[in-house]
Amino acid sequence: MKKDLICIGCPIGCQMQVEIENGECREVRGHSCPRGESYARQECLHPARMVTTSILIPERILPLSVRTDRPFPKERIHECLEEIRKIKPQLPVKAGDVLLANILDTGIHIIATRNYI
Ligand code: SF4
Repeated sequence: MKKDLICIGCPIGCQMQVEIENGECREVRGHSCPRGESYARQECLHPARMVTTSILIPERILPLSVRTDRPFPKERIHECLEEIRKIKPQLPVKAGDVLLANILDTGIHIIATRNYI
């Protein structure tokens, strides 16, 4: 199976072609640097995305913005969002504070993206 991808590693946006066989990435073409090849292999076999969202704080107008500290497996993002909705942060919160560690046993943490007092 062949898959076309555009690398998101830098603004050049190399157009890549990936050949996948028996669940393995056989060949990557079209990349201009190792980052592109690495991205293509990751995207084809284990796609992941940064998850950014916000949490409502009781009796406050502004929500608290949060994100994963690393890309999260794309196929489990819905579960991730459900877990994030359960977070009840203790205020004040500083940007970078871990609000939920090791979400869904992935080793990925949910962190605040700004101060909230
Ligand atoms: S392969 Fe390298 S040069 Fe091409 S878009 Fe990706 S990071 Fe940029």
